[in-house]
Amino acid sequence: MSEKVQCPCGRIIENASEYKLLYLKKELSEIDVLCPNDTCYLRELGYVKFDMKGDEAKFREASFYPPFVTWNAGRVGSERAEKLLKAHLRQIALKEIDWKMIAKVTPTAPAAPTTPTASETE
Ligand SMILES: [Zn+2]
Repeated sequence: MSEKVQCPCGRIIENASEYKLLYLKKELSEIDVLCPNDTCYLRELGYVKFDMKGDEAKFREASFYPPFVTWNAGRVGSERAEKLLKAHLRQIALKEIDWKMIAKVTPTAPAAPTTPTASETE
């Protein structure tokens, strides 16, 4: 009776600390949640979004992508899968993400780039 989360690539994920977190999309304030398997064909399993409040990063939302969710729902049932995956997301947001570090590397007050108006109206 498997109650573990599994990636469609076959990798069992017992603990939320196993995911790889990648923070590349700085301008989107989005952290990618990746499969721990380097050769995974899905790679991105979900994301965590946050907001910058002053110089603090505040969690906004986290979600796993449908292929990963569907796969697990097919294995343990959708109710159970939802519970397992939500628990993982919670742990990622609460324990795995170093919010101080995130805040540090995120440019504060994204000086809204004043897009030069392309059209000149008279
Ligand atoms: Zn995988």
